[in-house]
Amino acid sequence: MIDTHCHIDFEEYDSDRDQVIKRAQEKLDAVIVSGIGYESNQGVLDLCSDHKDFIYPSFGYHPVSSQNCTDEELKSAQEHLIDNLDNIVAIGEVGMDFFYVKDKALREKQREIFLSFIEIANDYNVPLLMHVRDCEKKALNIVLEYDDIPYVVFHCYSGSLKTAKRIMDKDNYFMSFSTMLCYSKAHQELIENISLDHVLTETDSPYLAMTKEERNEPVNVVNAVKKIAEIQNMDVESVDSITTNNAREVFKI
Ligand SMILES: [Zn+2]
Repeated sequence: MIDTHCHIDFEEYDSDRDQVIKRAQEKLDAVIVSGIGYESNQGVLDLCSDHKDFIYPSFGYHPVSSQNCTDEELKSAQEHLIDNLDNIVAIGEVGMDFFYVKDKALREKQREIFLSFIEIANDYNVPLLMHVRDCEKKALNIVLEYDDIPYVVFHCYSGSLKTAKRIMDKDNYFMSFSTMLCYSKAHQELIENISLDHVLTETDSPYLAMTKEERNEPVNVVNAVKKIAEIQNMDVESVDSITTNNAREVFKI
């Protein structure tokens, strides 16, 4: 099993990060940690270099936390990204969030920043790991314009089944399902109708735990895999093998 999206570099893990990683190592094949901005990306890279062949980095620029960035900040994050293309498994998380951001001008800025990262993914043929919320169709229409992005991942996919079906038309497009499956009816209904050939698993730790107060951690991705197996009427091993192979294919790990 692979947790394809989490943030164990966050300060929430400062007191027991080693134990969190150890628990993950006991059950999982790999973990991908996603940076959300310049400093976070460097922190993720440092963390991963201490745990080579188990934790892999992706470099991103989060649409919400980075929305007030200056042009200089964006430029240095992108230079840093391009300098490290050989060290990362994907670009992300990048994207658009229309759930938190309602302001028109800020949404437009998100779109422009998103486009600039898509261009890098397309020019350098790097997988794109997207944070997209309440604008899945828009984001899909944007990425479909680019032919040279090797893989596109909708992290924590929460869009409609209609858009999911269009995503499934593309062999190299994936939707990642999180531990939210354990309690979200909407996600449970969605996964019932989605081909596992397009599914990845994740936790988005420290977020999306069973309760708001709880801290999530990568090993809990096991619960997402079990839930998928239950809903799709399959055994856990088969779901594990399909989704793990998908992640290995996308991220080359
Ligand atoms: Zn995230």
